Amino acid sequence: MSENLNPFAIAQAQLDEAAAVLQLDPDMHAFLREPMREFHFTIPVKMDDGSTKTFQGFRVQYNDARGPAKGGIRFHPDETIDTVRALAAWMTWKTAVSDIPLGGGKGGIICNPRTMSPGELERLSRGYMRNIARYIGITQDVPAPDVNTHPQIMAWMLDEYEKLMGWHEPGVITGKPLPLGGSQGRTPATALGGLFTIREAAKARGLSLDGATCAIQGYGNVGSHAHQLAGQFGLNVVAVSDEFGAIYNPHGLDHKVVTDHLRRHGKVVDCPETEAINNAELLELNVDILIPAAIENQLTSQNAARIKAKIVAELANGPTTPEADNILNDKGVYIIPDFLCNAGGVIVSYFEMVQNGYQFYWDEAMVNERLDQKITTAFHAVHTMSQSKKVDTRVSAYLVAVDRVAEAVRLRGWV
Ligand code: GLU
Repeated sequence: MSENLNPFAIAQAQLDEAAAVLQLDPDMHAFLREPMREFHFTIPVKMDDGSTKTFQGFRVQYNDARGPAKGGIRFHPDETIDTVRALAAWMTWKTAVSDIPLGGGKGGIICNPRTMSPGELERLSRGYMRNIARYIGITQDVPAPDVNTHPQIMAWMLDEYEKLMGWHEPGVITGKPLPLGGSQGRTPATALGGLFTIREAAKARGLSLDGATCAIQGYGNVGSHAHQLAGQFGLNVVAVSDEFGAIYNPHGLDHKVVTDHLRRHGKVVDCPETEAINNAELLELNVDILIPAAIENQLTSQNAARIKAKIVAELANGPTTPEADNILNDKGVYIIPDFLCNAGGVIVSYFEMVQNGYQFYWDEAMVNERLDQKITTAFHAVHTMSQSKKVDTRVSAYLVAVDRVAEAVRLRGWV
């Protein structure tokens, strides 16, 4: 039978496995398998050529027992309601494993932002906000950036929300530009948080990071910042990729050279002093650390057996299928599961909400120190659970997170 690559089916199967280990009450299990609320809508946008194009948008509030739903908005041509549901479920487990007082949600628009002008993107972003404004808020649901969305898009959405409401409410969306109430350190936070978990996983594995080699798949906000910051942790990044291809240099890739090339040519391939390889080859390189930092379903039953890394740090959401998980675990690969590894973004989003609430802002050193504390504590909760229950790290991350969400649901008397 071929592998089921539907992300929501995968998210549910992962929960089912954890529920069995936890001996979760069947009624609770049934409740946690489904999103609590979802919104589907159309967004008509006036295009530059005078035509009107209708886009489809979604917002899923998967679970808000522990606090307001929280999660980003993706702009992607392959977006479906099931990807958004899966990502919203993973946000629920992410905020719980990080022990921040928030639930999980996610949004998406089916669109290809590469083919749209800045004006079209602004009208699309504002149209999305007009559709969800009445269902979100600092006490209900707080969106943020994700794949193909960035601080400027957050700024347009914030402005649309505040215009509709008639008051300022910066905490309604995170990942904002600094002048509009963004947090220091938010943009690199996902990458930095992931590197903190790699540092801890390496210690747990008895692996020195000094000169350890690393390949990064994806060169958006997360992958590019992971490359930029990796040197501070002793890592030598030898390969990176974007959607057009990958580049490799066994002696290491300089972040500035790669980003300059990307800025000028729109892709990483053909960067000076690098060899062009393809994305599949990048994943299978003989490196110590592999960082998938792109999209779902990259490590599958088709390639998992050929992965050589000792640590797979999932900075992307859902990069590994359950079949690949089994293969990698059998090979003894240490997987830092996505909703732990990439929790740095939402942790600093939470800090951003806190700062917006107080209208008092922290410096970057303070943000990074608190991020380190939160994510390192989360890492050890998961690592210790995996050792005590003798389960793999993904199942143990689910055990920690699901237990916390289930407790909040129970205390509220929902189940
Ligand atoms: N989109 C990021 C994630 O998947 C951040 C979400 C947030 O900050 O709310 O974790």
